[in-house]
Amino acid sequence: MALASSSRKVVDCVVSQARRSIARSGCRCRVVSSTHVPPSQYTAAVMAAFSSSARHEGPAVSSPPQSLLKPMDVPKKLLMGPGPSNCPPRVLAAGALPMIGHLHPEFLKIMDEVKEGIQYAFQTKNEWTFAISGTGHAAMEASVANILEPGDVALVCQNGIWGQRLADMVDRNGSTAAVIQCPMGEVFSLEQIEKGLQEHKPAMVFITYGESSGGTAQPLEGLGELCHKYNALLLVDSVAILGGYPLYMDAWDIDILYAGSQKVLCSPPGTSPISFSQRARDKIASRKTRVRSFYFDAKELANYWGCDEHPRRYHHTAQVSTVFALREGLARLAEETLEKSWKDHRECAELLYEGLEKLGLEPWVKNKDIRNPCVTAIRIPEGVDWKSVVDYAMQNYKIEIAGGLGDLGGKVWRIGILGYNCTPENVKLTLKVFGEGLANARK
Ligand SMILES: *Cc1c(COP(=O)(O)O)cnc(C)c1O
Repeated sequence: MALASSSRKVVDCVVSQARRSIARSGCRCRVVSSTHVPPSQYTAAVMAAFSSSARHEGPAVSSPPQSLLKPMDVPKKLLMGPGPSNCPPRVLAAGALPMIGHLHPEFLKIMDEVKEGIQYAFQTKNEWTFAISGTGHAAMEASVANILEPGDVALVCQNGIWGQRLADMVDRNGSTAAVIQCPMGEVFSLEQIEKGLQEHKPAMVFITYGESSGGTAQPLEGLGELCHKYNALLLVDSVAILGGYPLYMDAWDIDILYAGSQKVLCSPPGTSPISFSQRARDKIASRKTRVRSFYFDAKELANYWGCDEHPRRYHHTAQVSTVFALREGLARLAEETLEKSWKDHRECAELLYEGLEKLGLEPWVKNKDIRNPCVTAIRIPEGVDWKSVVDYAMQNYKIEIAGGLGDLGGKVWRIGILGYNCTPENVKLTLKVFGEGLANARK
């Protein structure tokens, strides 16, 4: 009897556990028997309970979307716009590796490798160097949110849409954007920026190193020093140029530098390398108000990325697969070396300029010395329907060529030569298709 009652207890317990999981699965559980059920019959009883309650009782459920019952359609394209660029097979393969936990030792080691890769790409020894979870805009938001407090002024150098967007973010942060402008396709002089520093006494200066809307490469030498003379930090956007043109974060006294994964680093969009100098960290440490964004709080992120002496805490779940892919994009750059990558981008850009000239076209940026080799804006000649050239390339060759942004909308095409796509073959093919599209547009 004692045995029988204790075995009933076991069965009841097992059945009640089953009832709980049945309930959680959204079905209703009908109790088949409250008396002793021998273990051999137990399974059958549970199965009976399952099958008789599998019918859903509740509000009508809409039918599953038919579109999801078919495979998705992702054609192969050659992405010769300003980003994203094509990912090399090794990068795509890295993104398909098994999932692991965001705090597992293997993942933490990969984060360390990513950090070293970014330090190399940025040419910095900054301890606070990591990747923001999000695309380039996330790094822009993070820079603004961490450095500026309400009431702080940022001097924003605007020669394209990136200055416009950053000024918008400064404003949304409750800080003040003092904007200085020059036309798209032109760059700022130190004198112009010094005047802005004197007039607005900003806490930070923002400038775009590689403009992807105007096609310029802004000279940066001496700018960090100038900003520091006026007690301002220097924030630089290098999304559309990092890895394709010389950049030395430490030697050029840049305080906050960010980039993106999907341009020269030829990784999927979704991670943005960022680094903070000691000066930038001091400014953050002396804040009187808390950083408005929890997600972008650099101090928290630095801890998660192992940049301080404390044990790593869970801040958010890193986008594991995208970090794997970024790691491979950075590994590719490390194997290739920065010098080689800079040289390749310059040579491919030269090839593009020559080819354009033969087609009777010219880059929007007249002065060769200030052209961003990674993104070239091309002046649309009078009487040419720019869109038809873009459509021709896509429809006939699945090649992406982009139109203009901001003030240059309808005035330029843009061609990106980014990372894995930076080969003479790709440039020649793009020129050939461009020539055909142009002839077609003029017919
Ligand atoms: C692409 C780009 C960005 C970031 O854009 P996301 O779409 O958020 O990745 C920022 N700055 C420049 C100069 C860019 O070219």
